[in-house]
Amino acid sequence: MEEIIAREGLGNLKDYQTAYREFNWSSMDKDFDWSRGGSYNVAAEAVDRHGRGELKNKVALHSFKASGEVRSLTFKELSRLSSEFAGGLLKLGVSKGDRVFVYLDRTSELFIALIGITKMGGIAGPLFSALGPEAVRDRVADGGPAAIVTSPYLYHRTQSVLAGLPHPPKFIILGDNSGLGGTISFEDVLKEGDQSFEAVDMDPSDPYIIHYTSGSTGKPKGVLLPHRAMLQQLLGVRYVADLGQDDVYWCTADPGWVTGTSVGIFGPWYVGATIISFEGRFDARTWYSIIEKFKVNVWFTAPTALRMLMKAGDAMVKDFDLSSLRHICSAGEPLNPHVVRWGVEVLHRRIHDNWWQTETGAPCIANYPSENIKPGSMGRPVPGIVAAVVDDQGREVPVGKEGFLALRPGWPSMMIGIWGNITRYREYFYVPGWYVTGDQAFKDKDGYIWFLGRADDVIKTSGERLGPFEVESALIEHPSVAESAVVGKPDELRGEIVKAFIVLRPGNEPSEGLKEEITNFVRVRLAYYAYPREIEFVETLPKTRSGKIMRRILKAKEGGSDVGDTSMLDD
Ligand code: AMP
Repeated sequence: MEEIIAREGLGNLKDYQTAYREFNWSSMDKDFDWSRGGSYNVAAEAVDRHGRGELKNKVALHSFKASGEVRSLTFKELSRLSSEFAGGLLKLGVSKGDRVFVYLDRTSELFIALIGITKMGGIAGPLFSALGPEAVRDRVADGGPAAIVTSPYLYHRTQSVLAGLPHPPKFIILGDNSGLGGTISFEDVLKEGDQSFEAVDMDPSDPYIIHYTSGSTGKPKGVLLPHRAMLQQLLGVRYVADLGQDDVYWCTADPGWVTGTSVGIFGPWYVGATIISFEGRFDARTWYSIIEKFKVNVWFTAPTALRMLMKAGDAMVKDFDLSSLRHICSAGEPLNPHVVRWGVEVLHRRIHDNWWQTETGAPCIANYPSENIKPGSMGRPVPGIVAAVVDDQGREVPVGKEGFLALRPGWPSMMIGIWGNITRYREYFYVPGWYVTGDQAFKDKDGYIWFLGRADDVIKTSGERLGPFEVESALIEHPSVAESAVVGKPDELRGEIVKAFIVLRPGNEPSEGLKEEITNFVRVRLAYYAYPREIEFVETLPKTRSGKIMRRILKAKEGGSDVGDTSMLDD
């Protein structure tokens, strides 16, 4: 029988079918101040209108530093500081439409800068602070920012590679900039600014942010999202994260990634929620303690983090009071059914998978808090989104059949371009009438969509096509397996064979016996051709800095393909 985690009927989305059928994007206009004459600007809607309204003294941000210190900013304070920053940028010669990159650790000033840039009509380019000099240089050379906001440490780290660029940006330094000739301090930019600076009225299709995403080959691409993305970001936090004004919300994604801004900053602030930002890195105890300390109600994270919490052991959960938490959302990678079950059994919380991409700007497919969850499925399209599984002619394939996951173009948060690369942008629309996501999937009879893999990751073995996700999910059900990545390895006889890279849970030793045991364990759970004919135990898996497993690195190692761009590879 099909596995279902039954709905609890709670949440903002009362009845999915009706909401989906009757939905119209214009029904959301009234949720925004611009419909009453305010500026059309993401910063005005996320911060300024609360800064002067009923929520002005409410905490918008608790910024939890690695040192343990917390800086809390109300909407009013954030509105004032970001206005000062916006005005200061103008005085510095930055104009509407200019890119301003923010290369900072997750401090409160990162948030002030992002809001300030978008408020003055600039295009914010958040860069994850763990990016190395080469990755930063690629992005700066591509995006040509007028200014970069950074810290003395990160400035020193990247100076040598940035110095040779033909149009060097201005540097705004957070912290002591004495001795850094030609730079200006963050404090001075604020001082130069004007706290009554009003958000610039933008066109809905003007970009407010550029997010770099890793290409499978070649250089990273700069995805531009427009101000009108606010409609879908609001819908995402309302229906997918199920947030309300009284909620404390923690999204663990760095603002360098689309999740970290769309549903990490802007979305929750449109509804007036309080957000938590943590500067430090992953540590199971610290993460549980953040939920306890700030009484987090909704937590948005990624499958990798959830698997790491599982690896830390079930006993640890009992040391913390997680009673504030209503539910968890997960995005960015496939969420194994085993992890969803663990959420219910150990955390006593539902974990809601949702699917989207940098290019889609906001969640597009989800297992909603108010609806049944099918573990292992990504859920159903968000109201206002048409998602289908199509063949290469754009025809929908029958229920249960594999095809290309595609979206009907025109949703509000759809990217408006790839910076400086119109050819690359057009490639997404090569199937007539559709935006092609590059993922393989199938739809079931109830309209739930199941992820099979990136089109590039699909394994062709013995004449069959196989997505790595189902094999990986079967592998991690084995008690000694913490994580796994599955790729196709070239094979004369079978075209490719299934090869699994496995990270063991603590307390397990690699051995031939264990390989055999794991193979037998998954063999009975999978199609006859799908079990791994080769297993290799590894200490870690190659991941992007946003935590996604990079299967193509493993595949290249097996001689299957070119390694491609590695600038996004974590250390
Ligand atoms: P990015 O633009 O870097 O966020 O990557 C987007 C890609 O991540 C998608 O095309 C999928 O391959 C993958 N992805 C995102 N969310 C999910 C999900 N919920 N389930 C499976 N894959 C996902």
